[in-house]
Amino acid sequence: MNYCYDHYCCRCFTTIPKSVYNNSFENVELPLCITCQNWFDRLCVKPTSCAKKLFRHLRERNIKAELESKGKFKTVDITVESALVHIEVDGSHHNLNATTAIKDLWRTYYSMKEAYFTLRIPNAAIRHDIETTVKIISGIIIERKKQLKRFRELQFIQSRSEQQKIF
Ligand SMILES: [Zn+2]
Repeated sequence: MNYCYDHYCCRCFTTIPKSVYNNSFENVELPLCITCQNWFDRLCVKPTSCAKKLFRHLRERNIKAELESKGKFKTVDITVESALVHIEVDGSHHNLNATTAIKDLWRTYYSMKEAYFTLRIPNAAIRHDIETTVKIISGIIIERKKQLKRFRELQFIQSRSEQQKIF
C-alpha cells in the first residue's frame, strides 16, 4: 500500500490522522475524513470497488471528480462537472445483456442532450491497468475542456455578430 504516506481525504483533501485514513480505507475502500464518511453513508447507491478505485486515482491527479452524483435522469458513477463528462464504470453484464446495453445507450443519449459526454470504462481496465486508464481519462478531460472553451468562444462570436445585425 503506497497510499499511507499522505494522509488526506481523497474527496475533500483535508488532512486526516493515519487511524482515520486506515479505518476508512478498510471499511469503504476510500480514505475519507469523518465528514465525507457521513456523506458516503448517506449515498443511496453504493459505488462498486472499481468505481471507487477510479475515483480515488482521479482525485490523486487533482481531477475534480464526484462519486454517485445525481443527474437529471439518473445517478452517474463519476462526474467531472468542469468538463461536462460522465464516467460510467461497466462490468461485463453491460456487454452481455441486451436490455442493459440499450438502457446504457439511452442514458448516453439523454446525457448528451444535457451536453454531457459519457465515457464508459470497463472494469478490466481499472483492475488491470489503472495507471494507463487514468492517464487516458486525464487526456480526454483536458481535450474536452479545450472543446468546451472553443465552443463557448464561438457562441460568443456568433451572439456578437447577431447583435451587430440588429443594430
Ligand atoms: Zn473529506
